Amino acid sequence: MAVPKRKISKSRRNMRRAHDALGTSAHAECANCGELKRPHHVCPSCGHYDGREVMNTEDAA
Ligand SMILES: [Zn+2]
Repeated sequence: MAVPKRKISKSRRNMRRAHDALGTSAHAECANCGELKRPHHVCPSCGHYDGREVMNTEDAA
């Protein structure tokens, strides 16, 4: 197994991790209820997708 020749300093390690931050996740407004939802996903609050109700949100089924 290949072994690193030198210890990575705290500075170099932290410089590498400077690019590791999580980005913001994609979101869009629901056309039916205005709630924020993920694009191309059924709205979790009203159950609508593409202008029609595709999921019952009244009672847990
Ligand atoms: Zn909705």
